[in-house]
Amino acid sequence: MIYKVFFLFLIVWSAVGQEQSFDEAQLLGKKNMALEGAEYQLLSEVIQAFEKMKKAALLVGIDIKVVSGFRSYERQRAIWNRKYKANRQAGLSPEENIQKIIEYSTLPGTSRHHWGTEIDIIDGTIESQGDVLLAEKFHEGGPYEPLHIWLEENAATFGFICAYPDQLQRTGFNYEPWHYSYAPLSRPLYRAYLDIDLKRVLTDSDLEGSSYLTKHFLDRYKTSHIMGIHPALK
Ligand SMILES: [Zn+2]
Repeated sequence: MIYKVFFLFLIVWSAVGQEQSFDEAQLLGKKNMALEGAEYQLLSEVIQAFEKMKKAALLVGIDIKVVSGFRSYERQRAIWNRKYKANRQAGLSPEENIQKIIEYSTLPGTSRHHWGTEIDIIDGTIESQGDVLLAEKFHEGGPYEPLHIWLEENAATFGFICAYPDQLQRTGFNYEPWHYSYAPLSRPLYRAYLDIDLKRVLTDSDLEGSSYLTKHFLDRYKTSHIMGIHPALK
């Protein structure tokens, strides 16, 4: 009996230690995954965890509402190209343009939203006006301050962690108190993602500014932005 238990332990231990392999298209938002949800889409396990968190928050009068879930490569490219064209019209150089966009937005193929594990959330009980995803709305006196406090105390219990917290030692994207990641699934995806050769996958003639995405730039972007996340998600 003891022998059997030990053997079982060995199997479990070796499975945990192994890096999971994923389809590259899945990591880049180029694959039709089995997603669920009407208004927004996520992996089934993420929806289940989210529903549990939503229920718990409702008990204290907060109605957590997802404003963005899964986003495909094409969708992210459309966002990128729209911003790039607007910045170019405003007179920005290609280098300035790219720097400005990556303060908040990702290069298509590099968004965590491609994985079906990420959510941008607000409090649905509050009438929203204008742009809802602004950091000040989640802080003192802001409409989403109670939501923010509740999430800081409880989200991790349900597996959700803020990907871009307000930490001085973090690099990359600006602080996003609304962006939560379902860690049990996003952690292995992140680890697999780090092996991708960004230069190869971002050679896309329909992507504005792609000729300025040099290997040097992309190596730096990977370190500062893709890896600039909450340590608990690594
Ligand atoms: Zn987000």
